[in-house]
Amino acid sequence: MNQPKLIVIDDEIDLAGFVCDVAEMAGFKTEQYNNASIFKEQYNRHADIIILDLMMPGIDGIEVIRFLAEIQCNAQLILMSGFDSGVLHSAQKLATEHGLNLAGSLNKPFRAHQLEQLLDGLIISTKNQHSTPHIEQPDVDELQHALRHNELVVHYQPKVGLNGNAKTVVAVEALVRWHHPEHGLIAPDLFIPIAEQHELIDDLTWVVLEQSLSQCKSWLDQGLTVQLSINMSTTTLKELDLPEKMGQLIEQHGLQPKQIVIEITESALMQELVKSLDILTRLRMKGIHLSIDDFGTGYSSLVQLHRAPFSEIKIDRSFVSEMETDSEAESIVETIIMLGQKLNMKTVAEGVETTSCQKKLLELGCDQAQGYLFSRPMPADEVFPWFTEHLKS
Ligand code: C2E
Ligand code: MG
Ligand code: MG
Repeated sequence: MNQPKLIVIDDEIDLAGFVCDVAEMAGFKTEQYNNASIFKEQYNRHADIIILDLMMPGIDGIEVIRFLAEIQCNAQLILMSGFDSGVLHSAQKLATEHGLNLAGSLNKPFRAHQLEQLLDGLIISTKNQHSTPHIEQPDVDELQHALRHNELVVHYQPKVGLNGNAKTVVAVEALVRWHHPEHGLIAPDLFIPIAEQHELIDDLTWVVLEQSLSQCKSWLDQGLTVQLSINMSTTTLKELDLPEKMGQLIEQHGLQPKQIVIEITESALMQELVKSLDILTRLRMKGIHLSIDDFGTGYSSLVQLHRAPFSEIKIDRSFVSEMETDSEAESIVETIIMLGQKLNMKTVAEGVETTSCQKKLLELGCDQAQGYLFSRPMPADEVFPWFTEHLKS
């Protein structure tokens, strides 16, 4: 029978021995290294589980994580640390970011049964079991063609009050998709960066604006007044007459500026800061609301919040989705909500998928939520029936 193999890397000889004893009882063949450089030299890429201590003299656990990532190690990785939980937490994130199979972690000191439980729960990965699906990058010419031939469609995702009641908030976010004749619906993350790099983003923004404002007017004519959020990258904020053009477009569609929220997604540092601030300030003066999207990540930072006249903060979904299992993510969400309250801004949580997460956000005083729990983004023709259903008493 092929026994699964477990390697432990820890400079504490007693502890490494203890881990091996427990693992052998659980049916593993074990090997221990008390020096990480020897492990690096001798590792022959045959291990099902690697248990790694973070604090070691010489080469430490973080360097071993980097090494494992370089050799594309597909063993299950368990991290151990006697240091504070923040260190263990960052190391876990780092390992995941590197694409390693993180299977768990152990705070030292731990008891035999804690390790046994962890080992019991592990499904031994067979090598090369998963291959990452290959996603084709669309090219610029195709995107240009799509813009000219109306292949871009806008879907809408409702925003609701945190009690889950659509009656308290009637708002949607416009999210663009590419209806490709051969590949079907393509998600924005795949083509927005191309549009930004090749100066097609302004055209894309206007297509989304035209489509969603007409749609909003049509809902209004049917008796549904809905607030509309539109995503805009900072690269669009360079034409000084943008506020005037937007003001006109909103008016032409028989809508009011206060119904429109512009969500600023920062994919790059604002290059022409003065110009962007000029534009953002005048958009706000026209009555259009500004929202800082994906707050807490990338360039969506406190500095931007301080500089520009935002009226809404959208808490990035990476924090929201992890807040139930990760107390640090929860603290971040809590802090952002408090910050919003202090600055008199509306807080919106993205990526709410469970009722327990909704409940937690409600307790923390968050204003609104968006997420699969309430609705996925949907084609325009499904929005009116959705609201009709959810606005019923
Ligand atoms: P975003 O503005 O932060 O939009 C939220 C994204 O989270 C959307 O992805 C939405 O479908 C997804 N989402 C919503 N609820 C949940 C949930 O409960 N769970 C999970 N896992 N995901 C959820 P989508 O539609 O793929 O859009 C991705 C990003 O593309 C948007 O992030 C936005 O930054 C950008 N984008 C979309 N449309 C436009 C546009 O017209 N212009 C620009 N510049 N960017 C756009
Ligand atoms: Mg957004
Ligand atoms: Mg977002």
